[in-house]
Amino acid sequence: MYGRTVTPAFTWTALPARVVFAAGALDRVPDEVGRLETDRVLLVAGGTSNRDAIVRLQTALGERCVGVVRVAVHHGPSVSADEARQVTRNVSADVVVTLGGGSVIGLGKAIVQACDLPLIAVPTTYSGSEMTPIWGRTSGGRKQTWLDMRVLPRTVVYDPELCLGMPPRLAAASGMNALAHCLEALWSAGANPITSGLAIDGGHRLIDGLPRVTDNPDDLASHAGNLIGACLAGRALAQAGTAVHHRTAHVLGGGWGLPHAETHAVVLPHSTALVTSRAPEAVGEVRRLFDTDNPAAAVFALLNRLRLPVSLADLGMPEDALDEAAQRVVEACRNDPIAPDEPAVRRMLDDAFFGREPGPGVAP
Ligand code: NAD
Repeated sequence: MYGRTVTPAFTWTALPARVVFAAGALDRVPDEVGRLETDRVLLVAGGTSNRDAIVRLQTALGERCVGVVRVAVHHGPSVSADEARQVTRNVSADVVVTLGGGSVIGLGKAIVQACDLPLIAVPTTYSGSEMTPIWGRTSGGRKQTWLDMRVLPRTVVYDPELCLGMPPRLAAASGMNALAHCLEALWSAGANPITSGLAIDGGHRLIDGLPRVTDNPDDLASHAGNLIGACLAGRALAQAGTAVHHRTAHVLGGGWGLPHAETHAVVLPHSTALVTSRAPEAVGEVRRLFDTDNPAAAVFALLNRLRLPVSLADLGMPEDALDEAAQRVVEACRNDPIAPDEPAVRRMLDDAFFGREPGPGVAP
């Protein structure tokens, strides 16, 4: 298969990263703080099953922990980015450590960008945000994202023990968000053999590991595999770039307040079907990943297997807003080579709204 066609020319610049991965790696955070030659930590933390971890990390840091921002992130950060930045300046922190999921990492990114500090991330979900220099903001019902190297964590500490007992719905949804990173990285215009290698490996790990942790939230080996999958997925997307899938999820999340990870999960089968029918050559690797000619159906089957909601209606999307959402997605995709037309996007949103099983798309 590989080597039969000439690989198109590409340029790839690696993003810097230091990854520390181990069961129990939470205890290595103080050493990583010292390695950056910093010693005044602002700890940004949240996550319902992580109270013990927060106390453990605070104790291990001792006097080096000069401030703590606790985040209750059910409906967005309870602490505004402005408040968190003010706390950081008040305590003269010289490094920010996040302990939590993508929302907590997002708040950490907002702080380090404004205060020009290094960031250490300790993820507790599979969002993959810790591997990207992407930050986002929603205002006036529109979510926008940007790349800024200042927000890329200098060090990521993965401790799979922090995922033990993760609620199955959170594991499944954040894992499907990571899988969306893999698929989009495979079909996006910026894909190259290196980003695709990361995305394929990440995708295999997630497809294998997500059903295992939703069936058994205490399966440490599968949490470990999924964290690696999320890491590879985040890095692949950061370098290949986003396309129609992410644009759609951002339009829906920003415009109608739908939950981030679950929206990705519901849309993914339908964005896969849309790309399959409009650019069949772009989904060759996705077909191989799922070992099927109908990857959209395989993604839909996984969504059901993980017992996640399958329709935008279940997530609270109003049906009468689908026309406007379709217009916004087309506008957001106008520079995308797989630029979909409005009727195709409207059909995709309709299928996602009703949770219909996607069709086979176009044969290879
Ligand atoms: P989240 O961080 O919003 O967390 C969801 C809920 O799970 C919260 O109540 C949290 O307290 C809880 N939680 C976190 N870890 C837990 C654990 N181990 N056990 C039990 N509960 C836990 O959810 P998420 O899916 O990780 O992140 C979504 C956010 O991340 C969105 O804001 C999205 O925009 C952002 N994101 C950013 C990027 C990027 O590259 N910039 C990528 C993916 C997601």
